[in-house]
Amino acid sequence: MNNKPLLACLFAVGLLSATASKPGIAGGEPGVAATLDTRDVANTLVPLLDGLAIAGTGIFGARGELALVRFEAHALSALHAVAAAGNAWDRVEKMARARGDLSDAMYALERETEYALLLSDYAQARQLATRLLDTARSAGSKEYEASAHGYFGILGRRQGDLDAALKSYETATGLLADSGNDFRKALILSNLGTVMRDRGDFARALELQLDALAIRERIGDRLETSLRNVALLYREIEDEATARRYFERALDSVDRLASPETYAPVLGSYASLLNDIGEHAAALSAASEALQIDLGLGNRANQGLERLETGRALFGLGQLDEAAQQLEAALAIGRELDQHEIVSRALLHLAEISQARHESLRARGMIDEAIAGLEKALLRPQLVQAYAVREKIALAEHDPEAALRYLRRYAEQRELLLGTRASRQLSDLQARHARAEADKDLALLQKDNELQNARLEKQEIEKRLGLVALISLGLALLLITWRFHGISRLNQTLRQKNAEIDQQSKALADANARLEERAAELYQAAITDPLTGVYNRSHLRELSARKLAASIASRRPLAVLVIDYDSFKQVNDQLGHLFGDRVLIAGIAAIRHCLEDGDILGRFGGEEFIAVLEGERALAAVGVAEAIRSQVQESLSRLPTHGIAVTVSIGVAQLSDLPVVEEAGIDALFDAGDQAMYRAKASGRNRVAQFGRATHPVEELIRGRDPSPQ
Ligand code: GH3
Ligand code: MG
Ligand code: MG
Repeated sequence: MNNKPLLACLFAVGLLSATASKPGIAGGEPGVAATLDTRDVANTLVPLLDGLAIAGTGIFGARGELALVRFEAHALSALHAVAAAGNAWDRVEKMARARGDLSDAMYALERETEYALLLSDYAQARQLATRLLDTARSAGSKEYEASAHGYFGILGRRQGDLDAALKSYETATGLLADSGNDFRKALILSNLGTVMRDRGDFARALELQLDALAIRERIGDRLETSLRNVALLYREIEDEATARRYFERALDSVDRLASPETYAPVLGSYASLLNDIGEHAAALSAASEALQIDLGLGNRANQGLERLETGRALFGLGQLDEAAQQLEAALAIGRELDQHEIVSRALLHLAEISQARHESLRARGMIDEAIAGLEKALLRPQLVQAYAVREKIALAEHDPEAALRYLRRYAEQRELLLGTRASRQLSDLQARHARAEADKDLALLQKDNELQNARLEKQEIEKRLGLVALISLGLALLLITWRFHGISRLNQTLRQKNAEIDQQSKALADANARLEERAAELYQAAITDPLTGVYNRSHLRELSARKLAASIASRRPLAVLVIDYDSFKQVNDQLGHLFGDRVLIAGIAAIRHCLEDGDILGRFGGEEFIAVLEGERALAAVGVAEAIRSQVQESLSRLPTHGIAVTVSIGVAQLSDLPVVEEAGIDALFDAGDQAMYRAKASGRNRVAQFGRATHPVEELIRGRDPSPQ
């Protein structure tokens, strides 16, 4: 098997698809150029695709051939090669039917019917729609049955049988009642709306078109058709601004390169509006572009309509010859297709041109035919226009009777037209009001829903917030508990540490106290004579030296008493050393008895002691010495000394007695005391002697009292 044709075909299809999606570069409108290019190429493509189908049969058998022919049909449809695509779908239908695949067959039949309508081949379209209806019935497909009735409706309307069209659409609507096919529903609603408009039921028409528009807006399909239909309705009630807005939306929503077959009619209708409102230049441009596209697509009916608008625009611009040419062409198409509307309207405008050229006879022939057609189709706006033209012709022909007749008819129709317009405007207002009410209700419902949602959302948020707060609280509590435990543990540790420190401090303080105590003890021991408890020699000297210095500085009196036990060897020898110690201790107690706070007493050595007195006490030193001597005598006499009298001899020395003591120091004073004490010994013991005074009155007194002077 040779695969070359197959590859060549695939390549060609790819190339052509790419070409079809780009704007053409030839002059004129890009969409037109692209369409024409693709049509031409599509024509050359058909034999290649046919070859491909045959090759496919060879390779894959009958099933492969069907697939390839279906592919060919889709490819040609995409290229807007209308006639070739129609043929391809015809072959798909036959093959599918032969294989018993009714679904494929019905799909193909629909496409075929579309193309027949596009080519304005109404007989063929009716035949195909009938075949579709039969097939749908035998296949039990309500949707395709509805589709067939839809086509009958279109055919009925195009051929001026509005009742038949209405019946077909109503049947289709009934069949689609339970269907979920929005695409088909919108199509039927839209077509039904057009019939209602034709019948003058403007409110119903608007309602149907807006319903279709709502569905198409939702499914995003054929939006432009619905927008155009709504625009046409507004054009009818002369609400030009609204009509224009819908036309512009329609043109915006359709891709003129991808869907030229839907773009062209929208543009053509827009041209018609522009002509109505006297914007002829814009109308000419729009109508010309639409015409070029329809020429490319081969849509005869639309070509007729576009030529009508081109002619009207040219007439409006004063180009009568060109206008007539376009209108003649439109007339030819109208007659060819038996489309009364095109014929009548073409004749009307041609009559106007003839009238403008003062060709009354020719004008009359045409306007009369136009009037007949328009009266039959009941195209009131054009009819009013036609009567006006006819009246002018009658006047030009000096036929006042005819002129009056047509003037009456003109007035009558105009009145009807105005009435119709007024009632349609009212319908529009009512429809708008009803829609606004419905929208308001819907908006209220939506608001209510939004409010409800907001409430629910708020509750949800509150719930979440509550939960968050609860969790936060829980976490905070947990944190606090944790921290509290941490702090408690820390506190416990701190308390333990503090207790330990306290314990240690106390131990330390105790130790310190003990140390201090010990130090004091040691100090005391260091300064004290262990036997008698008085200051030892070194401390005695130290304290006495300080007293001396202070007394010298303050010029206060200071006196020392040197006290020596009498005949102590004898005590030791006869009564024992230990008894001697007891005597020493008892003697000291007696001495202390005679001293006061501030007086100093120390052991100078052996059984010799020194007392230091200052101030008033120093002045009374001799008296104190005497008191001591007497007290010792008395105290020691109570001891069992076996007849040995234990007494003391005391030498008293005053600081004032020693003018140079400041340089000699305390030892000089002690020495002076010692000298006095020896004098007391020498004077017989148990007495007091004063330094520097050989015969002191007191000394004498004491000596006098002593019973045994030595
Ligand atoms: P006088 O009246 O001339 O002072 O005669 P005396 O016997 O006291 O002679 P002296 O002062 O020379 O002798 C002191 C004696 O005192 C000598 C010594 O054995 C004795 N003595 C010194 N210290 C102590 C002591 O602490 N205990 C005892 N039991 N005897 C002591
Ligand atoms: Mg002595
Ligand atoms: Mg002695």
